[in-house]
Amino acid sequence: MDFELTERDIARFRSKLRRASVTGCLVFNGAKFPKGHGAFRLPKKGGKQRLVRAHHVALAVAGRSIPAGHDAMHNCPGGDNPACCEPAHLTTGIPKEHGRDRSIKAQRRKSRSGLPFGAVRQRNGRYGSQAWLGDRTVCFGTYDTWAEASALALFHKNSYLFPDPEVN
Ligand SMILES: [Zn+2]
Repeated sequence: MDFELTERDIARFRSKLRRASVTGCLVFNGAKFPKGHGAFRLPKKGGKQRLVRAHHVALAVAGRSIPAGHDAMHNCPGGDNPACCEPAHLTTGIPKEHGRDRSIKAQRRKSRSGLPFGAVRQRNGRYGSQAWLGDRTVCFGTYDTWAEASALALFHKNSYLFPDPEVN
């Protein structure tokens, strides 16, 4: 986050903060983004303004930076308050949902381009037997071992693509 905060910006930012006595949150009392994060207006060189998330400004004021690919997340003792700007309630890290989304997408891409069929390890430790046919994923059930699931994926994929004429 590349904030260039002037003394005036910082004073204006601080004037919008109110301490919530019960939770200890330092709540931003100003405009909000749709998800409830404080929206702080920063003047930009050239006369343009931009809206930045208030809790990001709070970290910058506290001298903390947000590493690339990371995000600032709330961890308020009284339940997460998106408008909270108390640095002690803020952590930086890779957002859980984002990380999970990315790993699923990466896995799918790899499977699609490399292997049109195969076994996919599931959350419960078992293996799903799957084939990627065009834009569809066909599942052939779950198995205890990777070998079983991948062998059955190959078998099912072939019978799916080339049905045995004797059966019909
Ligand atoms: Zn808080």
